[in-house]
Amino acid sequence: MTTHPTDRSADRAAAAIDVQDLHKYFGDNEVLKGIDFHVGQGQVVCVIGPSGSGKSTLLRCVNMLETPTSGRIFVEGDEITDPDADVDKLRSRIGMVFQQFNLFPHMTVLRNLTIAQQKVKGRSKDEAVEIARANLVKVGLAEKESAYPAHLSGGQSQRVAIARALSMSPDMMLFDEPTSALDPELVGDVLAVMKDLASEGMTMMVVTHEMGFAREVGDNLVFMDDGVIVEEGDPREVLADPRHERTQSFLSKVL
Ligand code: ADP
Ligand code: MG
Repeated sequence: MTTHPTDRSADRAAAAIDVQDLHKYFGDNEVLKGIDFHVGQGQVVCVIGPSGSGKSTLLRCVNMLETPTSGRIFVEGDEITDPDADVDKLRSRIGMVFQQFNLFPHMTVLRNLTIAQQKVKGRSKDEAVEIARANLVKVGLAEKESAYPAHLSGGQSQRVAIARALSMSPDMMLFDEPTSALDPELVGDVLAVMKDLASEGMTMMVVTHEMGFAREVGDNLVFMDDGVIVEEGDPREVLADPRHERTQSFLSKVL
């Protein structure tokens, strides 16, 4: 693995996410082949790589939507892979946004944002509504609270999905290709919301093909291929001067 010089002074023990020698098999297929990396508090780490390289599986392991075959993952110092861990509790620190927005179609935007706050967080309706409205303002969709998802554009739906995740008051956010399903003219609005979040200090792990976002917002860029981290470092350096042939080849196709 080639590592670019980068600020690694963040104490690993204080990392928001710390992944150690993570392996994941689906049957005989080893999809993650020993992944090691960490995300510091308030850092934005972008993950790039070809389709099938294991990016989604990595993200899904971090919040235990997939169970790692071996290795350890720590969330703010607490081991989520510990068999005795309270996975639901640790997972509640992590917000997740998917390529497909997964909004509840039969509920208004506001209800999409309040239901889990009430059912999972035990918040009162009034408190949940107040938090939901603040997050709708944040993503620029205050006027859509009574709309149903079918009446939203893809970009609006994804911003609602982000607001819904934020309404659970997570300490960090995972994004899995949040703009890949969007028409090109709608991508910018979603990236702008993510950029705002980053500038507020939210810890973020973002699987994306948006190299401009990675360059501008990312503190670290991870290039994955075939279940391993091939190269990581400062996004500006990795994108301008990839060290590894596989990174060069990938970037020549997407840049
Ligand atoms: P990426 O997000 O980089 O495109 P994925 O993590 O989705 O890659 O997939 C990595 C590999 O794992 C692929 O070969 C994929 O077919 C396989 N895979 C992913 N999820 C499953 C699953 N639930 N069952 C079996 N194989 C899977
Ligand atoms: Mg994927």
